[in-house]
Amino acid sequence: MGEMQTMRPGRSRGWASRVGLVLLLGIGGVGSEARAQEMSFEDYEPRSTLVVKQTRLTRAKYPFVDVHSHWWQAGEMSEAELADLVREMDAMNMAVLVNLSGGSGERLKAAIDRMNAYAPGRFVQFANIDFDGFGEPGWTERTVAQLREDVGHGAQGLKIFKNLGMYVTDPDGHRVPTDDPRLDPIWALCGELGIPVLIHTGDPAPFWEPHDRFNERWLELKERPRRKRPPEPSWEQIMAEHWNVIRKHPGTRFISAHLSWLGNDLGRLGALLDELPNMYTELGAVLAELGRQPRTARAFLIRYQDRVLMGKDAYEPSEYHVYFRTLETDDEYFDYYRKRHAFWKLYGLDLPDEVLRKIYYENALRIIPGLDASLFGGS
Ligand SMILES: [Zn+2]
Repeated sequence: MGEMQTMRPGRSRGWASRVGLVLLLGIGGVGSEARAQEMSFEDYEPRSTLVVKQTRLTRAKYPFVDVHSHWWQAGEMSEAELADLVREMDAMNMAVLVNLSGGSGERLKAAIDRMNAYAPGRFVQFANIDFDGFGEPGWTERTVAQLREDVGHGAQGLKIFKNLGMYVTDPDGHRVPTDDPRLDPIWALCGELGIPVLIHTGDPAPFWEPHDRFNERWLELKERPRRKRPPEPSWEQIMAEHWNVIRKHPGTRFISAHLSWLGNDLGRLGALLDELPNMYTELGAVLAELGRQPRTARAFLIRYQDRVLMGKDAYEPSEYHVYFRTLETDDEYFDYYRKRHAFWKLYGLDLPDEVLRKIYYENALRIIPGLDASLFGGS
């Protein structure tokens, strides 16, 4: 009965109607009813009453390459950890996992020696660049030489993190734009070596907007306040620099991460893909953008079926299942897995098989050198 004390007598509600509620809900219901009047957005988790087809997919229809995964300690993984990982990959039909956090030099070699040797063909390492000392004499030459060496050791791509464009500074303390000419030799080398650059720049545009009740990422900014961005440099500025690098280096293939943060504006993303034939993109952490606009997203993925790759970012098998369901089924109004990304429900895109195959693996086979095509032959 202690719950009764938490009940706020409704000012506009009369005694008789409160009695009615008690009768209707029973005594135990009063407290929760009262709490419900005060509950926060985070607490609201309505259970859908909609009765429609539910498809449970735990395995992709075709073998796939996850082009966006992070295994910082790849070089130190135990036999048991690698065995578990490969078992989970097999269960999901993930043929190849691309580790974007391979590092460079000795750390990269350790990742290759550990992961790639344990299960040949199943893992791919992308090299990273160390921006410490950027702008000092010899930095560009040193970095180009290191990358060349890393590719010689087996790196199959270059991953650029979002620190470039937001946090990396030159010796004068100025922010280094992604299209800084001092980086041009690096992008050119990737073209020469035939390796793709998976490049993540910026963040979702709402991180630049006021953290108010109109902001679609209000919850994420509440849970992760450090993600709030100052107004300058603007999202448009940072992303313009990113697209400009792709524009300046037509001989290099760029995989613009996270749908270039344009999952909410596929028309604009399509215009960029039309303009920049060396631009590709991937689905890491932006699935909910597609699932909320199934008709537009389906048309987009059919039109740009040669330019989009499967990527996930955070590794969690149950979350991949939501990717499979969204891409493969025509289910309606089902749950996403991270409320701070999306408080809305998803709808399946029901993609044609030939489009699924391209997104799941055929595009990766074309773009990432050295993949083992026989892993995809059987389906
Ligand atoms: Zn990532």
